[in-house]
Amino acid sequence: MKIETKCIQSGYKPKNGEPRVMPIYQSTTYKYDTAEYMGKLFDLEADGYFYTRLANPTCGFVEEKLADLEGGVGAMLTSSGQAATLAAVMTIAKAGEHVVCSTSVYGGTFNLLDVTLKKFGIDVTFVDPDADEEEISKAFKDNTKALIGETIANPALTVLDIEKFARVAHAHNVPLIVDNTFATPVLCRPIEFGADIVIHSTSKYLDGHAVALGGAVIDSGNFDWAASGKFPEFTEPDESYHGVVYTEKFGKAAFIVKARAQLMRDMGFAPAPQNAFLLNLGMETLHLRMPCHSSNALKVAQFLENDDRVAWVNYPGLESSKYKSLVDKYLPNGASGVVSFGVKGGREAAVRMLNSLKLAAIVTHVADARTCALHPASTTHRQMTDEQLDECGVGADLIRLSVGIENADDIIADLKQALDEATK
Ligand SMILES: *Cc1c(COP(=O)(O)O)cnc(C)c1O
Repeated sequence: MKIETKCIQSGYKPKNGEPRVMPIYQSTTYKYDTAEYMGKLFDLEADGYFYTRLANPTCGFVEEKLADLEGGVGAMLTSSGQAATLAAVMTIAKAGEHVVCSTSVYGGTFNLLDVTLKKFGIDVTFVDPDADEEEISKAFKDNTKALIGETIANPALTVLDIEKFARVAHAHNVPLIVDNTFATPVLCRPIEFGADIVIHSTSKYLDGHAVALGGAVIDSGNFDWAASGKFPEFTEPDESYHGVVYTEKFGKAAFIVKARAQLMRDMGFAPAPQNAFLLNLGMETLHLRMPCHSSNALKVAQFLENDDRVAWVNYPGLESSKYKSLVDKYLPNGASGVVSFGVKGGREAAVRMLNSLKLAAIVTHVADARTCALHPASTTHRQMTDEQLDECGVGADLIRLSVGIENADDIIADLKQALDEATK
């Protein structure tokens, strides 16, 4: 089936006489006739539900849909995108080990790796994603267990050369983890280019309406944990699960079963069935929304680029972007909906422009149906000096615009009148 059909049809498939629309199984627990059968569930011998922290039918249907959309063998929903990153990294690496990550990633990912996981004993080296393979390879050590990058980075909007990252990871016998939040599987499926694990903040475009926080981890099934020789936790008995050997018992699904059996069991960042229902509703229109976000964003970026009151525009889909060739390769159907730009007149002009917007709302969120804007220097990054802002690539004049799916002419008219106000 094509991606458009999968957005609608994958996952929940009602049998004769069952509800046409996926029900919300609002139950923490499940009933069985015998203790022996339940014992088999606990030993991972039989298939079935026993507690919603580990699995729930509603969440399970949505996991199937996501795995199908990304082209993986299995998926696990989490309570947030942060939890998805945590689950992916900690299924692979433990204290005393190391990961390599692109510098151009979401701030929450950067902080998780740079501060909190270091406290857990997992070390990180950050690499410039635009560096060549040799340069990136220098960051690898004997105890390195994964390479991490973001398809379209939030907020820098750099585009990842996924095949290059996959080659470097595989040359070191470790998996590539790609955060595909901004692209979504409608615009790019990283597994097709060599990614082994895909993660998402479903709070963004997948949900698409800013109603439910969530995350997801998808397993390609392609990484050979046994052949790598670097992952004894996959190939030797897990004493916390009666000696199960994940690669032997679960084959291609070893990673995603281990993520659920160990991390979800012990850390408990489980998704709510209600949120999974809302996420599914969002995904049913993902294939309509993503092309619209992308074409609106391109029109907005072109308008801004042609207005001489605008100092600079960053949108990977622009002909002038240094990422245009990577966009042509990895994102041929659109470069998603986020644009950043600077107004001449710096910080003051940016604040005046933001305050003059009528249609676009000021929010910290991105990636839902409504156009919204943020001025990081006066909000999320307000503790930083102008020099520090420049160093981390978020200038004092930067406005981040999440272009919605309203009519592009109305969005552009709003920006135009706000620019008039800001520069008069
Ligand atoms: C928002 C975001 C996250 C974190 O997700 P939450 O759902 O907010 O926890 C991770 N990665 C990217 C690219 C994001 O945009």
